Amino acid sequence: MAPLSPMMQQYMDIKEQHKDEILFFRLGDFYEMFFDDAIKVSKELELTLTGRDCGQEERAPMCGVPYHSCEAYIQRLLKKGYNVAVCEQMSEPTKGPNLVEREVIRIYTPGTLLEGGMLEEGKNNYLCAVATGKNRCGVCFADVSTGECLVTELRGRDVRQKLVDQLGKFSPSEILLCQNSLQLKYHLEAVKEAIGCRAVKLVGDQFGREENEARILAQFDAIALSDLQLEDREECVLALSILLHYLDHTQQKGVSRIRELDFYRCEQYMNLDINTRRNLELTETMRRGEKKGSLLWVLDRTHTAMGKRLIRSYLEQPLQNIVHIEKRLDAVEELVDQPSARADIAEHLSHIADVERLMSRIVYGSASPKEVKALSFTAQQLPPVRDLLAERHSSALVECHLQISELPEIKELVDRAIEDDPPVTLKDGRVIKRGYNAEVDELRDLIENSKDILMQMEARLKEETGIRNLKIGFNKVFGYFIEVSKSQTELVPDGFIRKQTLVNCERYITQELKELENRILGANDSIIALERTLYDGVCKEIAARIEEVETTAKALARLDVFCSFAEVSARNGYCRPQMTGGSRIQIKDGRHPVVEQLQKDVPFVPNDTLLDGRENLVAIITGPNMAGKSTYMRQVALITLMAQVGCFVPASAAEIGVVDAVFTRVGASDDLSAGKSTFMVEMSEVAYILDNATKQSLLILDEIGRGTSTFDGMSIARAVIEYIADPKKLGAKTLFATHYHELTEVENALPNVKNYNIAVKKRGDDITFLRRIIPGGADESYGIEVAKLAGVTGAVVERAKEILASLEAQAPQAAAPAAPREEAVPDLFSSAVESALVQKVRKIDPNAYTPIEALNFLYELVKIA
Ligand code: ADP
Repeated sequence: MAPLSPMMQQYMDIKEQHKDEILFFRLGDFYEMFFDDAIKVSKELELTLTGRDCGQEERAPMCGVPYHSCEAYIQRLLKKGYNVAVCEQMSEPTKGPNLVEREVIRIYTPGTLLEGGMLEEGKNNYLCAVATGKNRCGVCFADVSTGECLVTELRGRDVRQKLVDQLGKFSPSEILLCQNSLQLKYHLEAVKEAIGCRAVKLVGDQFGREENEARILAQFDAIALSDLQLEDREECVLALSILLHYLDHTQQKGVSRIRELDFYRCEQYMNLDINTRRNLELTETMRRGEKKGSLLWVLDRTHTAMGKRLIRSYLEQPLQNIVHIEKRLDAVEELVDQPSARADIAEHLSHIADVERLMSRIVYGSASPKEVKALSFTAQQLPPVRDLLAERHSSALVECHLQISELPEIKELVDRAIEDDPPVTLKDGRVIKRGYNAEVDELRDLIENSKDILMQMEARLKEETGIRNLKIGFNKVFGYFIEVSKSQTELVPDGFIRKQTLVNCERYITQELKELENRILGANDSIIALERTLYDGVCKEIAARIEEVETTAKALARLDVFCSFAEVSARNGYCRPQMTGGSRIQIKDGRHPVVEQLQKDVPFVPNDTLLDGRENLVAIITGPNMAGKSTYMRQVALITLMAQVGCFVPASAAEIGVVDAVFTRVGASDDLSAGKSTFMVEMSEVAYILDNATKQSLLILDEIGRGTSTFDGMSIARAVIEYIADPKKLGAKTLFATHYHELTEVENALPNVKNYNIAVKKRGDDITFLRRIIPGGADESYGIEVAKLAGVTGAVVERAKEILASLEAQAPQAAAPAAPREEAVPDLFSSAVESALVQKVRKIDPNAYTPIEALNFLYELVKIA
């Protein structure tokens, strides 16, 4: 076979190093793809597939995208699950056989993006790495676009579930799993919808322990692992090392943007498992995955991108430490009390750029001149913000005041060096301001004044030679020339060199004109090159001040969040919660923060709550469907969460004993695709909650036991309540909604269980929801009335009433169950007890059964029982 052309050989050599990525190969104004890449991409992006001579008989399949709009194409490929390696021309193309040098300068993957256009402004974009050991797991998260890097260690039982909870909190867009975690890969594949991450990759650990350690110490400028709280945390070291190597590999320019490592313990924050996050709709709604309708939607009135990201992370990580909570609340209170200062601060914040991400692009050399200029506009806002903060007293605001720098050196440099309204790119120059660099000024003068200079030269030569019609002209082939008509040629001095003879005239050049020409033509190229060098220098100088900028950006983000909490609290009439280390949650006139905003035309009916961990440990809430049970329970959870985030709460007064976790079991989160029935999912969630909740936790349980027959369901529900209410077993504060109003009898058996119901007014067949929670159990379920309210046809409603009456006449009142036997209840949820019946049932897959098979199976079960 004929050898490949030299350029194609170069392509093949580079492609060999990037087999897993689509290779974008720069050829002039295009990025071209060849062979399999071209075939794949032309299909995926609907690009025309062409061919290119490659030295061999058959042409190489090829497709391409214009280099200036490559971001959009790369983003589409990333969404489809591909990574993209971008290969640039590293030397200027020259005439002749020399090949242009080419190098891969960047690999685009979902978790390593820097470009503003590819990232969601108000959301961090995390890359995650996981390494597992025996009952331990090291997890780290990094966002290269902001420089954040966090690491934690998970231990003990349920490490997998804990990992999924952490992933739910950070929603990474790419997960790297250490090679030894194949099992985990299958597990994460199964929950990838829930964590919203499709890119899960196994990566090898090519480096030894010592090398990993050295890498980390060098990155974070530490002497020993203990400085980073990483001693004896092998899995964390491994995960972190995998992450840093990957970033290094994809950025190809080092990972200098990541400078600080934040080791966190899961116990610092309120424990929220992945279901609870979804159920409480913290940052997006369950149905549509939209921000509107979520708690974030209500609370986010931030003005900066940094504030937007931080408020989201605050909601994802409510605190447990009262001192830290109070510190935030103090700041919010001060801003609530100072509406005009708050408005002024907000006004300045709204002009502040996304400094965190901007800094990353400056550090990696990909910031545009406009972005660099934005730093100066931002700096302009800082002195007034500092002045406004100078008068504040709460410690968090005083800290913001101390940490916000006015960035005078950066502002001065940018103002001096960069044009006031610079272009988006460097390719046409006009970026460096006049007065910053003498050579640039000179070159620019030369270009701008070239006409004048030539006219001056023409006039001078006319005078010197006495040739009156001497002219200086220009053409593309000969460049600049001096034209003298034939009749005057004898006056031409010695220094003129003849270049061209025309009918009526002769054309000459002189040494001086040649030099001027070189300078004029070269000036354009030189000025663009020089401006680029100077611009890189400016960026380097700014990058050297990264610490100051980063501290400022972080303080601005916090200030923005405090202002947002204060604004929302003032507008919506929230109150400051009183935080305690006790176990009481007492809320007066509590409201659901989101429902009250969504249904502005219907007044929201406030309700009180008392859960004191003693006589009022478990509240059983009954009431018809649609009465407002789940709204009420969620509102208690959200108020507690908001308080621990450091925000005021929708109530007239609230005392919140800090909780270590909120667990919810709400509605039917069907997981049929994973082969589990609704009831199975419900029960495994209940099992998880009972295993992981503590006395300090808050439990929201909605309709437990609904997915099975009435008696089964009721028994399970009652057993769960008894287990939770027993301080020796669990003793967690619980709101328990049920439509089994028989369960209200538990109140008589257990001293710390109280009944509540949501009042309805009944007149004849019609009911009105009063939305008020009152002590005592509901006496009826009003199912038929609700059906009528929902518009079920009259004939059906009437018939339902007849059936109900006859059923009630037949069924004897269910006998009150005996008091719990000491050890009987928890066994329901321990896997130790596996009767033949249970074992048999476990094995079946209801989806795979035909009705006849199901019936036969039932007969078999009856035989065993
Ligand atoms: P349930 O869980 O009892 O079936 P929901 O909590 O879903 O009922 O409430 C049904 C609807 O009632 C909610 O969507 C909301 O519009 C309204 N609602 C609930 N609580 C209140 C309240 N306190 N004030 C006003 N409207 C409410």
